[in-house]
Amino acid sequence: MSIVFVDPPSPPGFVSFRHSHGGYGENCRTSRLKLPTLDVFHAASLLLERGVEAALVDSVLLDHDPAECVAAVLEKDPSMVFFRTSSGSCAHDLRVAERLKRDFAGPVAFCGPHAAVEAETILQSPGVDAVVTGESPFSYLEIAKSGFDRVPGVRRKRSGRVVKNPTAAFMSQDELDALPVPRWDLVDYRRYSYVTSQTSWGCPFGCGYCPYPVTQGTQWRARAVGAVVDEFLRLRARYGLRFVMLRDPEFSLERKRTAELCSSLIAAGTPLMWGCETRLDTLDAGLIELMARAGCVRVAFGVDSVETATLAAMGRRSRGLDDIKEKVRLLKSGGMLTYGMYIVGLPRETRDSTNELIDFALELGTEAASFSMATPFPGTRLERWGRGRGFIEAKDPAHLTGCVPSMRNEAMGLAEIEELYLSAKESWKKQKEPERPRRLSSALSSLP
Ligand code: SF4
Repeated sequence: MSIVFVDPPSPPGFVSFRHSHGGYGENCRTSRLKLPTLDVFHAASLLLERGVEAALVDSVLLDHDPAECVAAVLEKDPSMVFFRTSSGSCAHDLRVAERLKRDFAGPVAFCGPHAAVEAETILQSPGVDAVVTGESPFSYLEIAKSGFDRVPGVRRKRSGRVVKNPTAAFMSQDELDALPVPRWDLVDYRRYSYVTSQTSWGCPFGCGYCPYPVTQGTQWRARAVGAVVDEFLRLRARYGLRFVMLRDPEFSLERKRTAELCSSLIAAGTPLMWGCETRLDTLDAGLIELMARAGCVRVAFGVDSVETATLAAMGRRSRGLDDIKEKVRLLKSGGMLTYGMYIVGLPRETRDSTNELIDFALELGTEAASFSMATPFPGTRLERWGRGRGFIEAKDPAHLTGCVPSMRNEAMGLAEIEELYLSAKESWKKQKEPERPRRLSSALSSLP
């Protein structure tokens, strides 16, 4: 048994980031970044650790076109292939799988959170035999041992019908603790902008536009502190890495555990610099100081909206704009780079409130910012809100991504939302972009 995982080519005109948005993915039109899809590294690395032959083809990293991707997969001589799909890229991924199927007789399965919610549609493709809906990499171990028939979370074709195995649970604590250190050497990992890690899964806050509570659940689950420290030490010793980006939905959700993790990293000699994403209202001066000493050099956070009615409609708790400003000040005084995230076109937003959002982003003085258009990711409250009102208007199959307009709101149509989104990006670029690369490279050059 030889299993190949595929991060398929980006759709034309985009660069895919399939691990973003809780695994639903993001496609950017202009990004220079190349980032790994961490869950396929966990899956392939676990198989190898347990004696199953496994390989990984990252066609995003290698800028493959569909033909090059298929050739690279066939060259590995697999007995089974898993395509890691995402929301905005799924239509294109299916075309690549159908092309592979012309020359490959073995089973082809789709996996990832989008495959889980669109399993029935995906299984209509002649390129796909099965869909793996669960998040656990241990599912692939079971499939390697016994095939698709009994593994929870699998949907498969049989005699022209779709057969559903029992639902898969989220990863258990035992599984989290048994996750392997990713085998970054399965690809030319130095071509990534940076490698990633994840120390916790799930988020109980339930902001209505956010995919994380849908794809990882509302129950927060974390790896043992010792396992994370061990991973950092190995990334440094085995791969010579100096920086890792943490992909936790909310890194500092549990203050006690965050403090324990930071203290343990300090005790281990601060093996790596790292970045994280978190809610600013879960940070305080003491924790920020500890995070800085533990190697944290970059904190990303969602502002999302400055419109009170929008935040209320989406169930987004906020301590207000003054708290955001104060936390950014504390992070900067701790020497960290700050990265604000903003969404254009959420419910109740107007042209005026969006301009206030843009002004706030510019005034806040973060080193980096990202703007996206409200995206009705499957299973979110935002999707139900938009669908119920007939506001999801996009026809483009790649629309489930932040740079393609897909949903109007009560006050603005798609064209106006896209115009404001482009205006936000342009305003930011004019004011901030020139200083960002210099500050990031200066921070990274100071790594031990
Ligand atoms: S707090 Fe962050 S991760 Fe949690 S639901 Fe809200 S936006 Fe998503």
